[in-house]
Amino acid sequence: AVLILGCITAQGQTTPIQSSVQDVEKKIDSLLALMTLEEKVGQLVLYNGSWDLTGPASNLDTKQKEENLKNGLVGAMLNVLSIEATTEAQKLVMENSRLKIPLLFGYDVIHGYKTIFPVPLGETASWDLEAMEEAARIAALESAAHGVNWTFSPMIDISRDARWGRIMEGSGEDPYLTSKVAVAKIKGYQGNDLSHPHSIAATAKHFAGYGLAEAGRDYNTVHIGENELHNTVLPPFKAAAEAGVATFMNSFNDLDGTPATGHKILQRDILKEEWNYDGFIVSDWASISEMIDHGFARDKKHAAEIAMNAGSDMDMEGGAYESGLVQLVREGKIQENFIDDAAKRVLRVKFKLGLFEDPYRYSNAETLKNISFEEHRNASRDVAKKSIVLLKNDKSILPISPSVKNIAVIGPLADDKDTPIGNWRGQGEENSAVSVLEGIKRAVGKGVKVTYAKGADLGMGERSFLFPLKINKTDISGFAEAVAVAKKAEMVVMVLGEDAFQSGEGRSQVNIGLAGVQQQLLEEIYKVNKNIVLVLINGRPMEINWAAENLPAVAVAWQLGTESGNAIADVLFGRYNPSGKLPVSFPRAVGQEPLYYNNKNTGRPSNPEHVTFSGYTDSPKDALFPFGFGLSYTTFEYGEPQLSANTMKENETLEVKVTVKNTGKVSGKEVVQLYLRDLVSSTTRPVKELKGFRMIELAPGESMDVIFTIDDKMLQFYNANRKWESEAGDFEILTGSNSRDLKKTTFSLNK
Ligand code: BGC
Repeated sequence: AVLILGCITAQGQTTPIQSSVQDVEKKIDSLLALMTLEEKVGQLVLYNGSWDLTGPASNLDTKQKEENLKNGLVGAMLNVLSIEATTEAQKLVMENSRLKIPLLFGYDVIHGYKTIFPVPLGETASWDLEAMEEAARIAALESAAHGVNWTFSPMIDISRDARWGRIMEGSGEDPYLTSKVAVAKIKGYQGNDLSHPHSIAATAKHFAGYGLAEAGRDYNTVHIGENELHNTVLPPFKAAAEAGVATFMNSFNDLDGTPATGHKILQRDILKEEWNYDGFIVSDWASISEMIDHGFARDKKHAAEIAMNAGSDMDMEGGAYESGLVQLVREGKIQENFIDDAAKRVLRVKFKLGLFEDPYRYSNAETLKNISFEEHRNASRDVAKKSIVLLKNDKSILPISPSVKNIAVIGPLADDKDTPIGNWRGQGEENSAVSVLEGIKRAVGKGVKVTYAKGADLGMGERSFLFPLKINKTDISGFAEAVAVAKKAEMVVMVLGEDAFQSGEGRSQVNIGLAGVQQQLLEEIYKVNKNIVLVLINGRPMEINWAAENLPAVAVAWQLGTESGNAIADVLFGRYNPSGKLPVSFPRAVGQEPLYYNNKNTGRPSNPEHVTFSGYTDSPKDALFPFGFGLSYTTFEYGEPQLSANTMKENETLEVKVTVKNTGKVSGKEVVQLYLRDLVSSTTRPVKELKGFRMIELAPGESMDVIFTIDDKMLQFYNANRKWESEAGDFEILTGSNSRDLKKTTFSLNK
């Protein structure tokens, strides 16, 4: 007989768990044995809760949803946005349902909750894994205090296309860097112990291929083969699974003919079997029932059948599981052990979160009142300044010298306190960021005059989701004032770029230049003052040829979060020597997209600057600013990479030593990068791939030997045998300061 001892929660409720059995798996099994089929299916249902419990997709009214909560037919909710609402929903379950299985509360905590950090693409530019982990830890702490116990982050979709609006939400084009960031973020969210009230469950999303949507159109079809899937898309997900991420989210896209949500090979065979993953897979918003639109399922019931058989465990707001699964099992179309397995996966996460001990775990978390927001803002400023990438600095116009006494700050985003908060902004308040103008004013000494003119409106109008962009393309009435201000100044800080809601979900664009009248404004200002520093506020790589060619200085400042203006001023005035490096290629023209450094050689390669062959007749084919690129206020000199031996065997390692010297006048940080190329292999391989990086700091004149260890694992890839293996032969090792300027040596692997 099963002995239910129960457990008294903070709210005085009894949770029927078998306390005599310590082991979580046994607890899960004994709980499962008590559950009816309906209750098991209930664990696989995720309701939206932000608008009085009614979501658009599930077709259930509030009353019905409440009834279902009371009857234990719901496993989780998302977008429940206050302690009061969270407590209310949890109570419906804990006080009414038979088995009192607590709810999970999910939310998109993407780059901060109250304190906002740089957008993910921005923070990745810091290449500072510790700082990113800390950002996630803070986001977890703040959101946990608000009742959230599950975040739909990190997004680790490789994205190579600047047109895709969601490129801002990931870590860019490189699988290695994205994997490292994924692990750091997961550690930050989940901590060492998921049951700690400050830890929240993380989600690796979107599984898989979502970031490679054709033509950069959100939700579009992805046509990649097995080779690309395994070598480019899956590595960050494998790293996330190995790091113990609590959940996965599948994706909206069709992957070579099969919607990811109905993809058995991806979900059951690879993730659950091969990788031995024991967390659960949540669908993306209604992505199960959207298989009807894909033309892959006849109706919701059919969609539920496909998704469950393919290994999707939980239905987000799609209503397919709650309406279809029980009957499908009764009809023998789904094996009940699939339902059991899915329910166990959900329960496992709940046990790990400690929800059975305390369904109201947030009451033991730091209350928002006690949180030191000042400390969090400092952490945000720290990541933000590290995320800024200096692309050009001719004549060392930066850092701005104390002798400059009259600075004009111009542009539609110069005094914008909202755009730096970015898209997917959690509970970050509107207009709560420090603007660039504010940051500069605070940073300058007495006797420095700072003048401001907006110059033009970006004119986004309503920043509505999934609607056409409205940008001001005609109103130049502010130009005259801006020109007058620029004329009188010694130098101009131009702040241009993109509104927060130009990037993000459903916000793909065919133009990635300075939208509206911004380019025109920039050129007008340039006519009267050539001492311009362009500060770009952006959620994607942008086309900035004119600026890069004509202006003395360009810095990419992304959407940097709450402390944006302060962080930018830190860099502009040299209180922080920039160390950021691009996690994504900046193209010369949008027509190059998708553009990425780790491309294949083709049978007709050409030098990057060459036109034709595998390039274009009207433009060089390479990036304007390549992956890994970023300047400092000092200069670094790289020696040739030196190997400890010229050959290695499978079970051996090699050391690569590269000497880096600070040849400038100030100390600075540098991200030393290591790339590899497999010269001949059973499937074609990229011309180079990032395999290691190290952040170092050097005083003027100081040099350092940076040592990387090459092991067999680094040489492996998903090959013609459909396995991750290394293959004997020659390899190039390339080291340097970005993916373009590299020094090379070779070695061979003997088997
Ligand atoms: C997005 C997900 C997100 C979910 C819940 C979907 O539209 O694709 O990334 O987690 O909504 O908000």
